[in-house]
Amino acid sequence: MNERILITGGAGFIGSNLAEELLKLKKEVFVIDDLSTGSKENILDFKENEQFHFFKGSILNKKFLENIIKNNNIDFIFHLAAVVGVKNVLENQLKSLQVNINGTETVLALASKYNIRILLTSSSEIYGKSKRLSFKETDDRILGSIQNSRWSYANSKAIDEFFALAYYKEKKLPVIIVRLFNVTGKKQTGKYGMVIPTFIKQALENKPITVYGTGKQKRCFSDIKDTVEALIKFMNHKNVDGEIFNLGNNEEITINDLAKKIKNITKSKSNIIHLTYKKAYKEGFEDMYRRKPNIKKIQKILNWKPKYDLNESLKQTINFYKQKN
Ligand code: UDP
Repeated sequence: MNERILITGGAGFIGSNLAEELLKLKKEVFVIDDLSTGSKENILDFKENEQFHFFKGSILNKKFLENIIKNNNIDFIFHLAAVVGVKNVLENQLKSLQVNINGTETVLALASKYNIRILLTSSSEIYGKSKRLSFKETDDRILGSIQNSRWSYANSKAIDEFFALAYYKEKKLPVIIVRLFNVTGKKQTGKYGMVIPTFIKQALENKPITVYGTGKQKRCFSDIKDTVEALIKFMNHKNVDGEIFNLGNNEEITINDLAKKIKNITKSKSNIIHLTYKKAYKEGFEDMYRRKPNIKKIQKILNWKPKYDLNESLKQTINFYKQKN
């Protein structure tokens, strides 16, 4: 079937990689993006494809959104549009809350009105600062004080999840909630604070690689190709509505080791330096010590597992940046 798929935030890192794959599968793809963190460059390769349609605008604009949904017979929505990136969110508190809460509710309400199945991307941020070895979908959440602005993103995404579940229960909206853990790959930019593109850029320019805090904090990075594969599997799976899933890789690495790895692969002359969080983010920041997904649920239901390990992902991402420069 020639499905017609809408991606909000489709010019961003994840959205544009998803659009590329859906076009390969001969789907008709409609992208909405306000190009705040997404970019035209990300969609350049397929801009001329007849199956691809781009609409510039914000998800806060209900009329604009409704016209696109109503006029294009959309079969499925991937809702990815959000103010993302720790630095970006800290610097744009109000916009982040407005887009991530009001914008998402607008998208869910329209999906409900036109009865369109939708996948909502949430975030591992919602688990907060719990020191658990790994996070399971049903785990409690431990968040910091309101004075630490970092937690506003986690709260906004949690509200999105509550909205989605309420629409599912009370309005029968077919919705799937997917909590993304850290993702890496081509087209991700370091401009909004993400660690891997930041370190790669620093390493390729032989500038200091800036590790924040002690560098002992750990993360797990999922390759964008694995991430996109799982997102499409969710769309094709008919019995996952009203469910919440973690999506990520469960191979952990400290940020210190990540810096060393990137320095080695790029054969960089950069020094690895440590910056205090206060220097890096100013006020209102608190880091998460670890963030590893328990992926038993997604593995069982989607029959999916991560194929790419971090070394392989990093090599491909580094090549992407080398070609870009
Ligand atoms: N980080 C770092 N140097 C940078 C950017 C980030 O050491 O230049 C650290 C950051 O403090 C965090 C980790 O890398 O501990 C991952 O940061 P990112 O913003 O990519 O994702 P998140 O914190 O949301 O997992």
